Amino acid sequence: MRSTMMNFPLTLDHVLERAGRLFAKSEIISRLPDRTLHRHTYADFHRRARALGGALQKLGLQRGDRVATLMWNHYAHLEAYFGVPCAGGVLHTLNLRLHPDDIGYIANHAGDRFLIVDDVLLPLYDKFRAHTKFETIIVVPLAGSSVPAEYENYEALIARSTPLTPVALDEDDPAGMCYTSGTTGRPKGVVYSHRSIVLHSLATATTDYMGVSHADAVCPVVPMFHVNAWGVPFTAAMMGSKMVFPGPHLDAVNLLDLYQAERVTLTAGVPTIWMGILQALEKEPARWRLVPGMRMVVGGAAVPESLIRAFDRFNLHVVHGWGMTETSPVGLVSFAKRELGAMPDDARAALRAKQGVPLPFFEVRAMGAAGEAPWDGTSMGELQVRGPWVAASYHDLDAESGQWTPDGWFRTGDIVTIDAAGYVKITDRIKDLIKSGGEWISSVDLENALVGHAKVAEAAVIGVPHPRWDERPLAAVVLKPGMTATAEELREYLAPKFAKFWLPDAFVFVDAIPRTSTGKLLKAQLREQFQNWDWE
Ligand code: AMP
Repeated sequence: MRSTMMNFPLTLDHVLERAGRLFAKSEIISRLPDRTLHRHTYADFHRRARALGGALQKLGLQRGDRVATLMWNHYAHLEAYFGVPCAGGVLHTLNLRLHPDDIGYIANHAGDRFLIVDDVLLPLYDKFRAHTKFETIIVVPLAGSSVPAEYENYEALIARSTPLTPVALDEDDPAGMCYTSGTTGRPKGVVYSHRSIVLHSLATATTDYMGVSHADAVCPVVPMFHVNAWGVPFTAAMMGSKMVFPGPHLDAVNLLDLYQAERVTLTAGVPTIWMGILQALEKEPARWRLVPGMRMVVGGAAVPESLIRAFDRFNLHVVHGWGMTETSPVGLVSFAKRELGAMPDDARAALRAKQGVPLPFFEVRAMGAAGEAPWDGTSMGELQVRGPWVAASYHDLDAESGQWTPDGWFRTGDIVTIDAAGYVKITDRIKDLIKSGGEWISSVDLENALVGHAKVAEAAVIGVPHPRWDERPLAAVVLKPGMTATAEELREYLAPKFAKFWLPDAFVFVDAIPRTSTGKLLKAQLREQFQNWDWE
């Protein structure tokens, strides 16, 4: 028997039309470089995204052509998110925090034809332009500055353009691409399809995961150049939510002001952002009136239990999720399943600090040396995943095909346990696990515990070569402003929580811990710094 259902493509033009028709009055607020707020509605967004698509088509955009963006989070970037793929192009968001040479390499590797760039980022573009081959540069006059004559002015293009000529899009057509931020090696490109973005948006929007509603005011702090801001702009447009964009102002005070002014109910970003916000709130607890229960989606790096509890005290709700560039990115979100019943606050916080349970259509397994590890919460293995928004290859990089297993699973490189209820907990990246006397030590667990100490702001634990034990853990610790602490004090604090051989043999107090452009600890750099550590 055959089904009698329509073969209806899952494409972003549907989302754009829906947004324009059903939610024309929903608001889009953007913080500009001069800190003023720019206000648009979905009706503006719909009209301008179509005009951008039309303008690109007039400039010669062909199906499958890459259009790069070098932009902060704001209304024009949102227009590119839809205008480019709906005109048949591929939106390639460049990570402006990378080294200019890397940005140039990535733009060339992707074969980008066009570039849309914020006027305030032109100085950055100048640093790598000599090595790139963009045919047309379109400048968004965000700061109101005049656009150099050799470039197209984004606003002028939109004003004189006609709406895009509809393209018969296939759901498997490429719609966007993003390069991994990578803590080692050259960045690798992942190409998203219309279908993968649509399905990712539908799944993340569901109540138990991100729970995105038309009634939400959604503020993606995570950059739109980092895995599509975790898909939030696509999801919010699909649901008709108010969108609030922080532009280039990502410091805690500006964000808190924005949350308060625009009554934000749902926001998203990496842990470093929230650590800053927490410090600002603790310093001036009465300064801001935020929407009670505001949800903060946190991912990209492990979220310490102490952070979750600290925000609970301000009636702000951390939603911990896990993802990767290769998984669009969201694959896991932690929420307390009803079957687990009532539990004490401690147990609930520990559960929420796990990376979470898989979204529908996202399958997981932990592979150990002896095959698939049981879901018992203690057996460790490499997390392998598959699903309709998981990459099947890298763009133009056949040498990396070993990242996929012969039976079609993607190897994440994360070491995890999975418990009987399906909660995945990351213990480490494969390359960060510490091996001491033949036993594994989880650096992530030690770090999460250390930041629970009242004096500790940040911590990174690495394995350092040791003549007797192969490796021993060393903790690099940043103390909170004005605090002092001793190694003994921190060791004593950890002692009740861990086996004795897990406790770091050295604590080094540092001013800052190196991080990648997307907030991950740069352990390779730390390992290099401490490789000749004298254990005597
Ligand atoms: P990226 O592709 O740059 O987003 O990096 C993906 C990697 O970030 C994952 O493989 C994890 O190692 C790490 N990561 C992402 N989310 C989390 C999380 N919630 N907890 C711990 N690590 C995470």
